[in-house]
Amino acid sequence: MKFLNELGINALNYGASTGINWLQTTSNGQFDIASPADGKAIASVYKCSSDDYEQVVNTAQAAFKTWRKMPAPHRGEIVRQIGNKLRDFKQPLGELVAYEMGKSLQEGLGEVQEMIDICDFAVGLSRQLDGSTLHSERPLHRMYDQYHPLGIVGVVSAFNFPVAVWAWNAMISAICGNVTLWKPSEKTPLTAIACQNILNEVLTANELPEGIFSLVIGDGNVLGEGMLHDKRIPLMSVTGSTRVGRHAGTSVAARFGKSILELGGNNAIILTPQADLKLAIPGTVFGAVGTAGQRCTTTRRVIIHESIYQQVKDILVKAYAGLKIGNPLDESNHVGPLIDQQAVAMFSNALEQVQAQGGKLLCGGEVLSGAGYESGCYVKPAIVEAENHYDMVQNETFAPILYLIKYSGDVHDALAIQNDVVQGLSSAIFTDSLREAENFLSHWGSDCGIANVNIGTSGAEIGGAFGGEKETGGGRESGSDAWKAYMRRQTNTINYSTELPLAQGIKFDI
Ligand code: NAD
Repeated sequence: MKFLNELGINALNYGASTGINWLQTTSNGQFDIASPADGKAIASVYKCSSDDYEQVVNTAQAAFKTWRKMPAPHRGEIVRQIGNKLRDFKQPLGELVAYEMGKSLQEGLGEVQEMIDICDFAVGLSRQLDGSTLHSERPLHRMYDQYHPLGIVGVVSAFNFPVAVWAWNAMISAICGNVTLWKPSEKTPLTAIACQNILNEVLTANELPEGIFSLVIGDGNVLGEGMLHDKRIPLMSVTGSTRVGRHAGTSVAARFGKSILELGGNNAIILTPQADLKLAIPGTVFGAVGTAGQRCTTTRRVIIHESIYQQVKDILVKAYAGLKIGNPLDESNHVGPLIDQQAVAMFSNALEQVQAQGGKLLCGGEVLSGAGYESGCYVKPAIVEAENHYDMVQNETFAPILYLIKYSGDVHDALAIQNDVVQGLSSAIFTDSLREAENFLSHWGSDCGIANVNIGTSGAEIGGAFGGEKETGGGRESGSDAWKAYMRRQTNTINYSTELPLAQGIKFDI
């Protein structure tokens, strides 16, 4: 395939890189990667060994000493060049994202665009890593706070945004003066190798040392687990399920490391009697079936006022009947495959269980087979009438299942249902009522990290901080002031008087 050649992906690839060179271990097993789109083998990757890991971490530690001394705007210049290189490779990288992960080509290209956008954002930010000047209580003293880099930032990423999440972390972290060590999902290592090859060109052209951006590929519970316990990594940014994130958070905290956790969601849209259904229906359908329901921000629940419930239900079921399911590289399809057959089994199992708990399957749920569906990863998105307290509704199933939940009363009743889950990532309300919208956004409203009015739950712009509350982990990445999590804060006091006045006026005569 042309895009594989363009990105330097071979039939067999090495699984550890210091940013410029690939370490050449072949004795630690390998991952064989097939596309969920057509089930065909794409390429294989050797797993990083523990010796490789040591070498990569030692190289990264050494690189940090050089990189942190480079002025932040100069680091921004390197990130600017990375953004430009990504522009050159947008088409092949977008195609590989779509083919390896199974999202649509448009979404694959969109994901690469997000990487480019975060580079642009980081370039500007490299001149704005500001602290504040504070007024000292002591005369002729100056106080300020400033932010310093941390060292190695470990990034563990999920399969569903195989490259954008790394870029969100790595580019912001880089302008902050850190070096990054990336362990991608074992389900999508090829896109990570492609990114490393792209970076390599920029690092080499600028004669930068090895170790500024490193990559290790291996099993989460071996290699990823090692990173959680590695004291040489002061910050771990982990994107994945709440199960993995809970373990990561406690393990990193036990060694007093910092972590940024971006975990599972259980996102809801509220449709009030004041909702403009022309906006709400496409917003709901796209949010529920886009990326085959495999976004952390996927719409999983729609909380519908009883007065419009039947109407919305009928329209949604009709809209689902018109969905085209098939190869994600064919732009006429709306829904692509799930990542693998294990995900398909989880989808079927969740539907079985929710029905056993009282849910009513309104449409979808079939596993597709036959021509075009040879990978065994295609399913028909499902709509289920349910109640919020059902176990299956309370949990995130990473697949296209949309739960319809009826509410009566006012927006506060809808909000009580929305917030009554353990996750707190994304939320939305569709309403033309200012009063309902403002209540939704108020501090007694949505308890999520993302709260949208007349826009669905799915996706986000890089300019804002991204992340969620409760069991979504509390981390924030990307825009706004999320950069502060990648640095350590220091408060400084300078005495330019000829006295030594102690704080709080304490006298200490010697
Ligand atoms: P996952 O939890 O199975 O894996 C995520 C990553 O953790 C992988 O790289 C995996 O190798 C690694 N891992 C597994 N065990 C580990 C261990 N013991 N130590 C260290 N690392 C370990 O998740 P997934 O199936 O790849 O992704 C889907 C999940 O990710 C969903 O729950 C989704 O909501 C979540 N997600 C969240 C966000 C967000 O920003 N909140 C974004 C994307 C995905």
